[in-house]
Amino acid sequence: MKRILLFALALLLLPLFGCRKETPHSATGFACDTVVTITAYAPQETVDAALAVCADYESVFSRTVEGSDVWRLNHANGEPVVIDPETAALLSLAVEIGTLSNGAFDVTIAPASALWDFQADDPVLPAPEALSSACERIDYRNLVLDGTTALLRNGAEIDLGGIAKGYIADRVAAYLRNRGVTSALINMGGNVVVIGAKPGGDPWTIGIRDPNGTPDQSEEVLSIVDGAVVTSGTYERGFTRDGVRYHHILDPKTGMPVRNGLASVTIIGTRSDLCDALSTACFVLGEAAAKPLLDRYGVRAIFLYENGTRSAYPEP
Ligand code: ADP
Ligand code: MG
Repeated sequence: MKRILLFALALLLLPLFGCRKETPHSATGFACDTVVTITAYAPQETVDAALAVCADYESVFSRTVEGSDVWRLNHANGEPVVIDPETAALLSLAVEIGTLSNGAFDVTIAPASALWDFQADDPVLPAPEALSSACERIDYRNLVLDGTTALLRNGAEIDLGGIAKGYIADRVAAYLRNRGVTSALINMGGNVVVIGAKPGGDPWTIGIRDPNGTPDQSEEVLSIVDGAVVTSGTYERGFTRDGVRYHHILDPKTGMPVRNGLASVTIIGTRSDLCDALSTACFVLGEAAAKPLLDRYGVRAIFLYENGTRSAYPEP
């Protein structure tokens, strides 16, 4: 009788546990100057712990957090600095993309990016002289890497803003995978990584924002299973003055926001660090010059223009 009762109880509880596994949990926070949302078919504790991973990395990669690897490097007056192996790996990828994009992506953009405050209540344009002297210090070849030792020559300074969020999103995904999670979506301010599909087998859906619409309006929706989708857009950070949009993707030659008709570039691939760097690089390069770079890494791209046109590469 007891056994029958236990069996009946187990039968009753089974759907409950079954349901639990199919219920996603979410956590939202703020890291690297952006909103981070993690949704995973995993216990809430696991999702919360994954969110905490972002803050750990921020304390290593931030330009402004005192004592971070990047801060120490930028304040070393050209002396060699021992950095974390992960920082070294990220810097090495940044230099690789710098080389292959002919400096369109430049991790030493800091002297120029520091002159812009896009979030200020009343943003001001940097003085042209200040920008041109900042640009003299921008050249990724001034970053010299030797294993886990790095040094900056000729007054160069690092800003990982164009690549760090992508790297961290990958690490959050790895953290979840290592804990057995097989279905999750991580969104770090437009750097999206998905693990697996949704539990029923449907792909995750990721909207690419309509640059001329409100933040919740999608131009199109991508269906993704295991992959990364990263968008660099003029709407992320910027302000409009006298009808001109000043935004945070800068031309390393002038220190000014890139104006080439593009409103956003989305890269679809597997590694979000790579997609992040490529989204910035391809924005600066423009569609035609970006194609060899996209081929080189075997990733797809969607270019959205200010005039409302759209172009995909490679064409479907
Ligand atoms: P988001 O920060 O919205 O994801 P991006 O990935 O395009 O957008 O990164 C823009 C950030 O990258 C800027 O805020 C700045 O920190 C840095 N950055 C700007 N221009 C460049 C550039 N040409 N090369 C490398 N990094 C850049
Ligand atoms: Mg980027």
